[in-house]
Amino acid sequence: MIDLHCHSLYSDGTESPEVLASLAEAAGLRALALTDHDTLDGLPKFLAMQPQVSTRLVTGIELSCRFATMEIHVLGLLVDPLNPAFRARVQDLQARRHERNLRMAERLRTIGIPITFAEVAELATSKLISRVHFAKALVKRGIAGSRFDAFSRFLGEGRPAHVPFEDLSVAEAAAWIKEAGGVPVVAHPGRSSNRSFRWEEAMAELKAQGIEGLEAYYSDYSPREEQYFRELAQTLDLVPSGGSDYHGHYKPGISLGVGRGALRVPDEVLEQLEARTAKHTKKDEKP
Ligand code: AMP
Ligand code: MN
Ligand code: MN
Ligand code: MN
Repeated sequence: MIDLHCHSLYSDGTESPEVLASLAEAAGLRALALTDHDTLDGLPKFLAMQPQVSTRLVTGIELSCRFATMEIHVLGLLVDPLNPAFRARVQDLQARRHERNLRMAERLRTIGIPITFAEVAELATSKLISRVHFAKALVKRGIAGSRFDAFSRFLGEGRPAHVPFEDLSVAEAAAWIKEAGGVPVVAHPGRSSNRSFRWEEAMAELKAQGIEGLEAYYSDYSPREEQYFRELAQTLDLVPSGGSDYHGHYKPGISLGVGRGALRVPDEVLEQLEARTAKHTKKDEKP
């Protein structure tokens, strides 16, 4: 059993990378990938745990991208966190995220909600500030009753304080990830749109843009969804990746490895991902 999707304190999870590594070992996982949103900052501490745990610790990141009108999350599994070009790109994304966060604070102000960016930043556990932290601030001030309420009234897509963080294209993200030795995988496709969305066509287009895998196993999938995405991966020759998207107690009810109980990501998925990275290197070699 492996888990190729989780978050630490370095984005919006509630556990440190060290604790995640220990939890993975306790859960009997063969491998765990740390995939924080738009940051590589948790990876050094995560990898430093490798000598102490039998679980293989895998590098990763989750990038928010735009695909037509949809927000798509792309995982970069097995990326080299020391790759200088990739690090510079991630740094730039963080600068863009900061600009966007300032605009969201401004939006809140214009609709009469007196929450400052500084107040939001104070609630963050690292430099990475997301809508989750805005939600926390709104709840703390009693302006929203819950995080769910904060998203449905102010922060969710199309709500008055929402400023999309979207300028990264999937093609760009996929190319960056491959250059950094990783495999670009579409995260939770079944959770990025309504049910009637035609993933057959979208995924073929995403593959043409450089995507090499999709999450076929995910905490919130029904057995039918899992089967659908496994078959789609097979049809399109994409790696059927998967993970819990564990965020600690920020997303209650989800455990590493098993998700809500029924999640099982087969070990061979990691081998399939590694086979893809080997292909990238071969392609780059001079004859
Ligand atoms: P951001 O990257 O700043 O746009 O924030 C996105 C994060 O907000 C996601 O990774 C989720 O953890 C969280 N999020 C997005 N939509 C919702 C929602 N409707 N309810 C609760 N959390 C959400
Ligand atoms: Mn998240
Ligand atoms: Mn995601
Ligand atoms: Mn995630």
